[in-house]
Amino acid sequence: MAGLAFESVTHRFGNRIAVGGLDLAVEAGEVVCLLGPSGCGKTTTLRLAAGLEKLQQGRILIGNRVVADESGALPPEKRHVGLIFQDYALFPHLSILDNVAFGVDGGDARADAQKALAAVGLGDRGKSYPHMLSGGEQQRVALARALAPRPDVMLMDEPFSGLDVRLRDRVRDETLALLASTGAAVLLVTHDPEEAMRMASRIALMRAGRVVQLGTPDTLYNRPADAGAARFFAEANGFAGVVGADGRVPTPLGPVPAPGLAPGARAEVLVRPHAIRPEGAGEGVAARVLRARLLGADSLVEFDLGGGAAAVAARITPPRLPPIGTEMRLFLDLGQCFVFPEATVGPK
Ligand code: ATP
Repeated sequence: MAGLAFESVTHRFGNRIAVGGLDLAVEAGEVVCLLGPSGCGKTTTLRLAAGLEKLQQGRILIGNRVVADESGALPPEKRHVGLIFQDYALFPHLSILDNVAFGVDGGDARADAQKALAAVGLGDRGKSYPHMLSGGEQQRVALARALAPRPDVMLMDEPFSGLDVRLRDRVRDETLALLASTGAAVLLVTHDPEEAMRMASRIALMRAGRVVQLGTPDTLYNRPADAGAARFFAEANGFAGVVGADGRVPTPLGPVPAPGLAPGARAEVLVRPHAIRPEGAGEGVAARVLRARLLGADSLVEFDLGGGAAAVAARITPPRLPPIGTEMRLFLDLGQCFVFPEATVGPK
């Protein structure tokens, strides 16, 4: 199987840079997620790989073959890529089998389509029409349609966003297993960090057309490159401060070590809500419960630290919410605190 590679790809719409100097390789059998906020260039990157957008600068390879560079490009249908978009648009007037067979060349098209339908667990629904299937089943048909021609590269743009939450988890896992079995190189666009962490072998975090960090989910979550990257993965309490002579930044929750920063440097400290552990008593920082909300598996509790400091948010595991006004002590898990030089604070 063949991988997908972008080499120094830059793309502009008018004066605006949608993708800037992108270098990214997706190996066969790997799922790379392009993750980032709206407008950061994810879809444009995917469209360039598919050949739906004309390449302006750089080059794109599938396997060892250049499929687009500044001198020319292979048309989309010659690239051996499968596409799945958010709007997976099945043809309403074609049966499920015909929908899947639509893009498959050759005399075996219907047999290949039937195999792909069986692979997504819908082998017995070929004679149905799209309106007779649930949203999740239609999504699986779209997946079968993309898989049937056995593409080397699968390009997926927010393919699960139309599904309700409970269905989404299942379809995501099934899709992942199926893609793994084909060995295709998968590039998946999402703006949802949890989806990226669930699906990706590696995540490329994008901001304003550039990859700001590329790595495993573990690296991006636990060793974010800058404050914007840390905030993108999880809400955080932020404190500005100056690194002291002891190499730590004082915060209302206690000092946080600032490895790599010199004393006197201005720093931003991010404390994830999970890093704050409230207890009924002890040595920790005194705080009073301002608000408490049950969110399901977690609860969000906001604390007033007194002395005019901004409230801080902690995530705790229920069973019970502390009543408003309860006096508690807060302890800090330094493993979920991050310190960055102040200058790295960027847009989310
Ligand atoms: P979203 O998550 O909202 O889909 P995205 O990260 O996929 O966003 P793109 O759709 O790639 O972002 O857009 C990147 C930038 O390029 C945006 O500023 C967008 O407005 C601009 N853009 C995209 N397509 C076009 C176009 N056809 N003409 C002009 N500008 C465009």
